[in-house]
Amino acid sequence: MARSPLPLQEYVDGVLAGDRRVLARAITLVESRADAHQDLAAELLAALSPRAGQARRVGITGAPGVGKSTLIETLGLRLTAAGSRVAVLAVDPSSTLSRGSILGDKTRMPELAADERAYIRPSPAGETLGGVARRTREAMLLCEAAGFDVVLVETVGVGQSEVAIRAMVDLFLLLLLPGGGDELQGIKRGVVELADILCVNKADGDGVEAAERTRASYAAARALLASPTPDWIVEVLACSGLTGDGVDDLWALADRFFQQVEQSGFLQVRRRDQALEWMRTTVQQELERRFYREARVKAMLPGLEEAVAEGEVPPTVAARRLLGGTKNKEQETRNQK
Ligand code: GDP
Repeated sequence: MARSPLPLQEYVDGVLAGDRRVLARAITLVESRADAHQDLAAELLAALSPRAGQARRVGITGAPGVGKSTLIETLGLRLTAAGSRVAVLAVDPSSTLSRGSILGDKTRMPELAADERAYIRPSPAGETLGGVARRTREAMLLCEAAGFDVVLVETVGVGQSEVAIRAMVDLFLLLLLPGGGDELQGIKRGVVELADILCVNKADGDGVEAAERTRASYAAARALLASPTPDWIVEVLACSGLTGDGVDDLWALADRFFQQVEQSGFLQVRRRDQALEWMRTTVQQELERRFYREARVKAMLPGLEEAVAEGEVPPTVAARRLLGGTKNKEQETRNQK
C-alpha cells in the first residue's frame, strides 16, 4: 500500500458515513498483507461488523463473454434508480497470473462506475483463491457497513471460484449463453447445482429463439437436480442485459427468493453456517501462513521438496518431518512455561 493508513476512527467514521473514498482505502487496508496493517485491519473489521449484514448478497457467475458486466451495469443502474445502493465486488483468482483483473474493471461498467449510489471494486490481485475469497468477504462487510444494500459478487464460471462465492452469498445466479449444454458453455460440472436462479442471457434479436430453446432444455434438466436452497424451486429465465428485456423479471424473482428465505428463517441459517465456515477457513489459512514463515520450515522445505520430487523421501515422511518440528517447538515452549 503506497499511502500510510489512516487512524482507526477515521476509517470507521468515513465508512459509516458512506464515504466511497474512505471505503476504498478501508478495503485496501484489509487487502494489505503487510504485517504492520494486520492489527489495524482486524480492529476495523471488529468495529464495523456489528453494522454489516443488512445487504442482499448476490453472486453472479457465467463463462467469459456471457454478458456478466453488461447485465450488472443494466441491473445495477435500475437498482440505484429505484433507490438502492449497489456494490459490485469481483472475484477473479486468475488475476494472480494476468496481473490486473478482467473482472470488476470500471471500464466494463462505465455508467454504473460513475453512479454516486454504486461502488465497484476489482478483484484483489496477487492472491490464491482462498485469499481472494477471504478479502472479498471482508470487502463485503465493509460495503455493508457503508450502507450498500445490494452486494453483487461477480466471478467467472469456469473453475473453483463458484464454490467459494456460493459460500459467501445468499443467492447465486448462473448466466448461460443461448445454445449448447454445460460443456459447450465451458461450465464445470456441479456449478449448475449451486445456482438458485439460472438465466439465459442475450435473449435479443436473432438470439431470442435459441435462448428460449436453451432455457427450456435447462429447465427440464435442472428439474432433476436438488435445489441448493431448501424449499426453493430453481427457475430458468431468459433475459438480455443489453436491451434490458427480462431484467425486471429476473430481479422480481430474486426479490421473491429473498422474501421466502427471510420468512422461512433459512437466510439466517445459511449466514450462520457461512460465518462459521469463514472463521474456520481463516484459522486454516492463518495457521498455514504462519507455518511456512517459520525459519525452520523455510530452511527444510527446499531440500525436502527436492527429495520428494526425486522419489528419495515419501511425501508422508517429508510432511511429518516438517510438521514434527512444529510439535516439538510447541512442546518446548510449553515445557519452558
Ligand atoms: P462478461 O465477460 O461475461 O462480463 O461479458 P460482457 O458483458 O463483457 O459481454 C461480452 C460481449 O457480449 C460484449 O461484446 C457484449 O456487448 C455482448 N453482450 C453482453 N450482453 C449481451 C446481451 O444481452 N445481448 C447481446 N446480443 N450481446 C450481449
